Amino acid sequence: MVSVALDGPAGAGKSTTAREAAKRLGFLHVDTGALYRAVGLDVLRRGGDPADPGDVLPFLEDMRISLKFTGEGQRIYLRGEDVSEAIRIPEASMAASAVSAIPEVRTFLLELQRELARKNNVIMDGRDIGTVVLPEASVKIFLTAAPEERAMRRYKELLAKGAQADYDTVLEEVQRRDYNDSHRAAAPLHRAEDAWLCDTTGLTLEGVIQAVVDYVLQKSEGAR
Ligand code: C5P
Repeated sequence: MVSVALDGPAGAGKSTTAREAAKRLGFLHVDTGALYRAVGLDVLRRGGDPADPGDVLPFLEDMRISLKFTGEGQRIYLRGEDVSEAIRIPEASMAASAVSAIPEVRTFLLELQRELARKNNVIMDGRDIGTVVLPEASVKIFLTAAPEERAMRRYKELLAKGAQADYDTVLEEVQRRDYNDSHRAAAPLHRAEDAWLCDTTGLTLEGVIQAVVDYVLQKSEGAR
């Protein structure tokens, strides 16, 4: 099996790149951010504070999270309810960032991720895939771009969806999430030593996708 670990900060284009590259390679695209978002969403819905382990840990006991893969991509279920759209609200992003700092939450989601990689050729996108989840991944890529460019992409995405958005607020959020993700004690965001650093500032999405596909093909030759 071939495992591709695709890590990087918020807004670097990981999800879109991973989804398209996975399609071209015939691999499963696993979006691990969705798992943390589902945990965050459940805590919010139950009135808990996502930053407080005292609130979050008891909820984990009956937090059944599962993934399904369709021709259209990954769907995520919380106790059987499809929450694939619900987890995209901004409140769920911040809640995901908060719960992801709790080590027990990370452990809770670990086996589900590893199991998928044992059984399928995967491109798994996240923050700690190359460093913690799949340290033996056949291919590791760290995708990044300048914070201002990542904020601009997110801002345009929100406008395109018809949402109200303010560029400075989006930039602030990107920077706050970068800080949280790279300064937490549990599995902080950093590039695995053996990961290819791919800076997408100024590149087109198509250019990035093709570069990733080429790199995976080149690195996994013989393993497929
Ligand atoms: O990638 P996405 O923006 O959906 O991730 C939401 C949040 O989940 C991130 O800000 C990060 O804090 C957390 N996350 C993580 N580890 C992963 C994937 C996401 O900590 N592998």
